[in-house]
Amino acid sequence: MNMVMLSQIKVFSKPLVANLAKLGIGNLQALLLHLPLRYIDETHITAIRDLRTGESSQVEGEIVHVEVTYKPRKALIARLEDASGQLTLRFLHFYPSQIAALKVGTKLRVYGEVRNGFFGYEVVHPTCKAVGEKTVVAETLTPVYPTVAGLTQANLRKAIRLALAQGILTETLPASVYATLQLPSFMASLQALHNPSPEVDLHVLENKSTAHWRRLAFDELLAQQLSMRKHYARRRSVSAPQFSPSKQLVSALLKSLPFALTGAQQKVALEIERDLSQPHPMQRLLQGDVGSGKTIVACMAALQSIENGWQVALMAPTEILAEQHYRKMLTWLSPLNIQIAWLTGSQNKKDRDAAMAAIANGSAQMVVGTHALFQEAVQFKNLGLAIIDEQHRFGVHQRLALRQKGQPEPHQLMMSATPIPRTLSMSYYADLDVSVIDELPPGRTPIVTKLVSDIRRDEILQRVREACLQGNQAYWVCPLIEESEALQLATANDTYALMQNEFPELKIGLVHGRMKSAEKQAVMTAFSAGNSQLLVATTVIEVGVDVPNASLMVIEHAERMGLSQLHQLRGRVGRGTTKSTCILLYQNKLSETARARLKVIFESNDGFAIAQADLQIRGPGELLGVRQSGVPMLKIADLERDVDLLETAKKMADQLLKNYPAEVENHLERWMGGAGELVKV
Ligand code: ADP
Ligand code: MG
Repeated sequence: MNMVMLSQIKVFSKPLVANLAKLGIGNLQALLLHLPLRYIDETHITAIRDLRTGESSQVEGEIVHVEVTYKPRKALIARLEDASGQLTLRFLHFYPSQIAALKVGTKLRVYGEVRNGFFGYEVVHPTCKAVGEKTVVAETLTPVYPTVAGLTQANLRKAIRLALAQGILTETLPASVYATLQLPSFMASLQALHNPSPEVDLHVLENKSTAHWRRLAFDELLAQQLSMRKHYARRRSVSAPQFSPSKQLVSALLKSLPFALTGAQQKVALEIERDLSQPHPMQRLLQGDVGSGKTIVACMAALQSIENGWQVALMAPTEILAEQHYRKMLTWLSPLNIQIAWLTGSQNKKDRDAAMAAIANGSAQMVVGTHALFQEAVQFKNLGLAIIDEQHRFGVHQRLALRQKGQPEPHQLMMSATPIPRTLSMSYYADLDVSVIDELPPGRTPIVTKLVSDIRRDEILQRVREACLQGNQAYWVCPLIEESEALQLATANDTYALMQNEFPELKIGLVHGRMKSAEKQAVMTAFSAGNSQLLVATTVIEVGVDVPNASLMVIEHAERMGLSQLHQLRGRVGRGTTKSTCILLYQNKLSETARARLKVIFESNDGFAIAQADLQIRGPGELLGVRQSGVPMLKIADLERDVDLLETAKKMADQLLKNYPAEVENHLERWMGGAGELVKV
């Protein structure tokens, strides 16, 4: 029944089937799982006197007045009267036919959200129905569905009514799964959500908090868990090279460092060491706030692989960052006689060919680079470990491509400074193991963040001058212009010119995404070495850049950036022992939400709290980054609202996989359109 194609069911007309196909709906199950966006309550008629502002209601009455006004703007205004009072109907866009339909004396039933207008209660653009002999009130709340041009709500409702009449979709999992949760059956839930009884509280229904919504949310969360656990299990069945713990290289490296590892670094290093000694590929996410010292931990893992005779790839999302990693690896690893190759897209052919040859014949024990690393032409002799920095910048497919460079499958270590709220790590990241560095190296002075209106720009410029003249260094981050790369470039150039004009006494660098890699590198090297004092930059410096002497950062138009992004940017300062400041400049007219968002950054230095706020304000898309391109997003469940269901689903998943494998496949088929071809992380 589930998969019966609509085109094979007689009552579905050809045009209806064609229209549903536009929505991606081809079979009965997909149609029934096309759930309402919201509902309208046409089950009763409210007397005009009893209307409440902010609520949507249905009113019936007679038109007693119509006019087209031109001030303040053109509008069609009609007055509807019932026994208890009058209601204004206002149309800002209208056709002559509408004027005709609103003749004085016409009996109408209208529906819409009531607000307080100039003449009392008013509804803007109500839906109107003429009242005739046969007009009856609806018996259930009226669902409103997502739709496409050419398919009206009425037709969609009819299609779903037909589908509901076709018969039942079977349960996928044993009833015991739902018994303890006291959730209704699948079919009962679909029935209720497509035709909710007028007794249901509209707000609870629209919040998706009714038992029927919860039942479907649970099914969806369970499917996600099952698919993640399946991937996890798949990984345990695949073999990977086993690396015994390093005996020489790691301790030699640690001895050469000017610092000792923090307790948190030691802990995660041990977790990784243990994973690498397993015969199955590691897929571990190393998470730690900006500056927590992830690179050295990754380097220790690299040495374990190298000591066991296997190559390591270290990939970063930007050239600046890759370059910086390359230099760091040179300082750390060259004294240990380890050969490192460097590979980026912008290299000249000769260097590139040489690097590729060294990678292929194994003389390069470690390779550092950008996306260029996973291109087809790059052949490793024996890739044992792939390290991916700032993993959220890469898509699932890019990471997969790198993984396929190894035979057997290499271990993978992913790093991210963007903390993952608990609900996210329980859901979208449930297929990975996670290690967290929850401690910053000692001796860091916390960054002071200031929120300053652009009106006080002159004061800020003065501060920059003073800081630089005192021997410190500063970043000036140009406004983010997402719509156009050309505009972004123009802004960066303008800002640079302005700064040169403002500070003739300072050496100023400029770095942006469109520069050639050699130019970028020269600018960064000069800034690192202290040869320039001020660096004008776009958000290309967001990830990873590490210049400890930089202690002041000004971010223009901070309100345009995401919170986690601002936190990352801010993490470029506060890396040395000087007290650091980050100034967020905002344009004067800040909206309420923009102000609330900036307040989070201003008040918190905790990447975790910031990510949590980002999650609440913008949903998981932002945090998941490119990851979402390969992961089906939850449509019904909400991680925060349904956290109890998520926890239960997580608890149940392994048992179900073990005891009911066939049922699990059916469940995955229903909710993920197949047994997990979707997430191959
Ligand atoms: P992130 O986690 O943001 O990638 P990095 O690995 O770039 O951080 O480390 C930030 C800085 O802290 C680097 O200069 C690094 O050498 C230094 N560092 C790392 N671990 C320690 C430590 N245990 N003590 C002192 N400094 C450290
Ligand atoms: Mg880093």
